[in-house]
Amino acid sequence: MTPGRSFFLFLSRNGALRHWMESSSLGQRLSSRFVAGEHLHQALAVCRRIQSQGIAATLDHLGENVTRIEEASASRDECLLALQRLKEAGLEDNVSIKLSQFGIDLDEDICRRNVGQVVRAAAAQGGFVRIDMESSEYTGRTLRLVTDLHAQHGGTGAVIQAYLHRSEKDVEMLCGKEIRVRLCKGAYLEPPSVAFEKKEEVDRNFVLLMKKLLVEGAYPAIATHDESIIQEALRFVAAGKIPADRFEFQMLYGIRRDLQRRLAKGGYRVRLYVPYGKAWYPYFMRRLAERPANALFLIRNLLR
Ligand SMILES: Cc1cc2nc3c(=O)[nH]c(=O)nc-3n(C[C@H](O)[C@H](O)[C@H](O)COP(=O)(O)OP(=O)(O)OC[C@H]3O[C@@H](n4cnc5c(N)ncnc54)[C@H](O)[C@@H]3O)c2cc1C
Repeated sequence: MTPGRSFFLFLSRNGALRHWMESSSLGQRLSSRFVAGEHLHQALAVCRRIQSQGIAATLDHLGENVTRIEEASASRDECLLALQRLKEAGLEDNVSIKLSQFGIDLDEDICRRNVGQVVRAAAAQGGFVRIDMESSEYTGRTLRLVTDLHAQHGGTGAVIQAYLHRSEKDVEMLCGKEIRVRLCKGAYLEPPSVAFEKKEEVDRNFVLLMKKLLVEGAYPAIATHDESIIQEALRFVAAGKIPADRFEFQMLYGIRRDLQRRLAKGGYRVRLYVPYGKAWYPYFMRRLAERPANALFLIRNLLR
């Protein structure tokens, strides 16, 4: 792991800096590069705009590691509202949520009930709920909850992080149950006992899991901005005659817009992860960690 990456991931846990950033107008201006806005209507406007470019969205109401049950209930309610508004707007009702935002650290049963309500509501209107993957202390619990909810209601998907040693087994399990997987590299600070340390190792594992999912998975999502991996995916599906409607590419709002449009124009399915809300700091810091040069870029733009 590069020192820049560790530095921003370390800062992502700093409460004082978080408070200052999230409440200052400077912070809001900086975050607007990666965050659709503080409010649902701003996120819906982004969904409408990208839909006109042939790009789908998954909405994420930002928030994680809540410390009070009321916050977990508020996350659930916001998510239910987002599903309703997406439906009313004629947009695809697809949301992404985090278990630590739904109270898993406070009470696992309450968290299950909260997530269950969202999944039931989504399933009733033909929508889809993706449970994001957080740090490795949540992996087992998250996959258990996804498999239970999928068995009960359908319409629930998981995320697998290629940097984790355990991911190959998890992919096999999820393929066996026909649960939709989003494959990403992984965005948290993890010890070498659980995660590959070198970028080459993570990339190699990503490609291995990607090929497995493209052949055996249920509508996998290849979530990366890594152009060489995307090229490898395109070569693989062409060689295996895998139709373009059997998988999708996913990218984050504000990152590699050129590549997003190029893939969509080329006839591939592309979905953007569109985050919104007031609790944007940890998400924003992970985006800086992935590319520390972003920090300089943002400051330069601000000065201009
Ligand atoms: C749709 C989606 C959902 C995700 N969900 C999760 C999740 O649930 N759990 C989780 O741990 N992680 C998640 N991630 C984050 C993921 O794990 C990576 O941290 C992130 O995608 C960066 O990795 P990369 O695959 O783009 O490859 P990298 O090797 O990091 O980057 C490849 C290239 O992409 C571009 N790029 C990458 N990141 C940035 C950035 N921040 N700013 C500007 N350019 C950039 C650069 O050109 C870079 O050279 C998600 C990512 C996506 C796209």
